[in-house]
Amino acid sequence: MDQSKCFLSAFEELRQIYAAADREIAAASAQCQQCGGCCNFDRNGMRLYIYALERIHLEFICGKGLELCHGVCSGQNQTLCHIHAIRPLGCRTQFCTITLQEIYEKYAQKIRALEQKYKIDYDYSNAFET
Ligand code: SF4
Ligand code: SF4
Repeated sequence: MDQSKCFLSAFEELRQIYAAADREIAAASAQCQQCGGCCNFDRNGMRLYIYALERIHLEFICGKGLELCHGVCSGQNQTLCHIHAIRPLGCRTQFCTITLQEIYEKYAQKIRALEQKYKIDYDYSNAFET
């Protein structure tokens, strides 16, 4: 299988992992008022770590990776995430009132297993640093 087809399969499986994570996250009933505060990293003092496959996926869909502009993620438009469907796992499990750590770890393991299946090198790093 050539590498582009291989990545398309990996992306499809990654999106299935995101969908499964989303179902558990929805069941946890974490509240979000969509103020956009999660995406302002200067203000919230947090960091967003992503897996190599998530980075490749974002770059494939968006043409480039995430960047910070005045501390705010480039995925944000007004207070909303305009790449909501493909946002990384870390964005899905982090709320200002709660961190869904168990769900994060469960699905992070699945992403890592997927990377191993597709022989993608381990690189778990800050989304805004290349
Ligand atoms: S979870 Fe993030 S976007 Fe939602 S209300 Fe809290 S800070 Fe705002
Ligand atoms: S990808 Fe979307 S949800 Fe995640 S930090 Fe960027 S704008 Fe926020």
